[in-house]
Amino acid sequence: MIADDRPPAAPNTTRPRAEPGGAHLHEEPSETRSRAEQGGAHPFVEQGGARLHAEAGDARPLRRLLAFLDYDGTATTRECNEVVFQEFVGDAWRPFEDDVRAGRLSHAECFDRQVGLVRAPRAKLLGALVAAAEPAPGLAAFLAAVRAGGGRVIVVSAGFREVITTVWRRYGLPPVELVASELVGEGPNGGPPYHIEYDPRLGDCPRCGPAHCKAAVLRARRRPGDTVWVFGDGASDLCPAREADLVFARAHLSALCAAERLPWRPLDFVAARAALAEVSS
Ligand SMILES: [Zn+2]
Repeated sequence: MIADDRPPAAPNTTRPRAEPGGAHLHEEPSETRSRAEQGGAHPFVEQGGARLHAEAGDARPLRRLLAFLDYDGTATTRECNEVVFQEFVGDAWRPFEDDVRAGRLSHAECFDRQVGLVRAPRAKLLGALVAAAEPAPGLAAFLAAVRAGGGRVIVVSAGFREVITTVWRRYGLPPVELVASELVGEGPNGGPPYHIEYDPRLGDCPRCGPAHCKAAVLRARRRPGDTVWVFGDGASDLCPAREADLVFARAHLSALCAAERLPWRPLDFVAARAALAEVSS
């Protein structure tokens, strides 16, 4: 199955239905369609690995590892959302960030309002988000190593499913489970005005707001005895980081982890891959 079976968010986005028990949906992109469209049409994600791993018994040294990754600014080398907001709306996105830091706005509401500023056509917005993305150094090798060892990787992001799936395919990244948002365009062809439909698996939280907390996904996916590594960079990653055995953090999240004395290391997928030896069994 794939990670999400909700109906498409807009008339021009289509998502194929998952085959029961199927793990992979990976098709060659068609050059006649935009990359954003390809991302929406051909999910790459897989789920159900836990059952396979359990059946494999103790042959998989990383079977107890759950790697929990943010996408924007964590799996990518830069903050793609910020780059694209700046391109399309200038500095208008920035005051919302100040509101978050001051505790006046949740990170989820902030992102929704920022997206609401954009008036560009859907394909242009999604295409810019894809173009801004470059996988972090060592990400592909880390994902492959976790997968080879029988571990699980889940990417949990407020970012858009269409964008993330397209980036994953463009760079040939190993399959992961994906929990992401839908960009909903209320205008013609799914265009502006935009808002965000967050994944319903996010949970309620006084800090993140109702139905916006990533930690609920962690709790749902964590099994007894699992070691959980959280990779992130922002305020929305703090709740899962609080429940992690180890955090790989950069930017704002590293400051938050330090302030709360959480066990954390600088975000580095090359170092994380080397550290897999610490959790192999
Ligand atoms: Zn939370």
